[in-house]
Amino acid sequence: MPNLEEIQRLCLSRGILFPTAEIYGGLSGCFDYGPIGVLIKRKFLDYWREFFIKNEENIVEMDGAVVLPEKVLLASGHVNSFVDPITQCKKCKSIYRADNLIEEKTGKFVEGKPVDDLTKIIREEKISCPKCKGELSEVKFFNLMFKTFVGPTGEVTAYLRPETAQNIFISFKRVFRVMRGKLPFGIAQYGHAFRNEISARQFVIRSREFSQIEIEMFFDPTDEGCENFESVENVKILLLTRDAQINQGEAIKIKVGEAVKEKILPNKWMGYFLAKEFEFFKSLGIKEEKMRFRHMLPEETPHYSGGNFDLEAKFDFGWKEIVGNAYRTDHDLKNHSKFSGEDLSVSLPTGRKIIPHVVEPSFGLERILYFILLESYVVDKQRGWNWLKLPKKLAPFIAGIYPLVSKDGLVEKAKDVYKMLKEFDVFFDESGSIGKRYARADEIGVPLGITIDYQTLEDETVTIRDRDSTNQERLKISSLKELLIRKLKDNI
Ligand code: AMP
Repeated sequence: MPNLEEIQRLCLSRGILFPTAEIYGGLSGCFDYGPIGVLIKRKFLDYWREFFIKNEENIVEMDGAVVLPEKVLLASGHVNSFVDPITQCKKCKSIYRADNLIEEKTGKFVEGKPVDDLTKIIREEKISCPKCKGELSEVKFFNLMFKTFVGPTGEVTAYLRPETAQNIFISFKRVFRVMRGKLPFGIAQYGHAFRNEISARQFVIRSREFSQIEIEMFFDPTDEGCENFESVENVKILLLTRDAQINQGEAIKIKVGEAVKEKILPNKWMGYFLAKEFEFFKSLGIKEEKMRFRHMLPEETPHYSGGNFDLEAKFDFGWKEIVGNAYRTDHDLKNHSKFSGEDLSVSLPTGRKIIPHVVEPSFGLERILYFILLESYVVDKQRGWNWLKLPKKLAPFIAGIYPLVSKDGLVEKAKDVYKMLKEFDVFFDESGSIGKRYARADEIGVPLGITIDYQTLEDETVTIRDRDSTNQERLKISSLKELLIRKLKDNI
């Protein structure tokens, strides 16, 4: 399996993702998408929308501001509780996340413990600075939000949103009203989130600015109304239960319908999204055994939650969350009602008023893209170069168009083909040998190569090279459009 460094090198050399402010030495935890990255990201978002939104009658989209006034984050609890415990070396001043450091040194799982307990463990276990062996300070909490001040006098305190979800809760009343909503009702959003992580690391895995794609599905807990549940109840997912985690057991394979019936999952909406996520990633070529849902342990779960289930993917360095699924109950709307003074309840057809409950699937885009790149990367000694077996739907371009040589009218003919196919994502490349051009295209996962050669001038045919098999066949120019449409449909 390739590793993080190889993927990072590819991302840099081919303009997929690279450090922000690179010429100034970069800004730790921030990345820019380059020309190829933008295309892959856009394809992913389009496919995500097609899979999760298009066929749902009751999910709408919004796009909220990234700067939020302090009141919003006081109500959501982020100002007081969006914190990580830190400890600092008194000698070399290095800062560590205390719970991670303790886990690393002792194997004890201590997430969620109070700071005094963590300090005590550090003292008892004689944990010192991993860099210089210096004494570590008392543990204190560090808030992960980026604070800012709005306007020239700065009298309004605000924060960059630590999750996209809050926009949805604070806009719920208006969106529900303007869309003449009735429960169940979903609001989806893609956008940037910001967390001042103590140590940004592992490329895009732990970054300080990243993209989330979320759905907040609002429903009446006494009448869930998850109409499409039947279509997924036989989908089998891999689930790591709390018991299995405590007893070092394995993930179980279970039908979503059963998991809901046995109350392992808190409701049908949770089941519905977990099944859809499993199917979504499978449709992108991810193998079942590389994914599992982990029921988060009580100490990792917020007090108001009715159950959190992380979709974890098996990376080169181990399992890591790529999608967080949370049953946030009525916590957010209730608190925003209280803090804003606005009534955020909904009238049911019976006349009864309720604060809707909510299930939230939250996708971290960069982690997912990195995982897909990792899974698609083929180390190919025979071919002589490494390449990306990207699902066709996510490929930045569906085809490259190449004149065999840059003379005798082949460039002009290739340009005609290029213009004809411009409605698709295709690119034109005439530089270097044809082998080098194939290699460059393979490296970014372009599924097809269309080469215009001398025979083209005689009979209007071109050669089509397939990325995966490297097989070549001749085809009429007039049938190219149909071929590209077919290739785009045939996803993997
Ligand atoms: P959370 O709200 O923490 O459950 O995050 C939802 C998703 O956002 C996770 O499943 C990750 O994919 C992604 N995510 C969270 N924190 C980061 C981070 N620091 N860098 C990159 N992605 C993140």
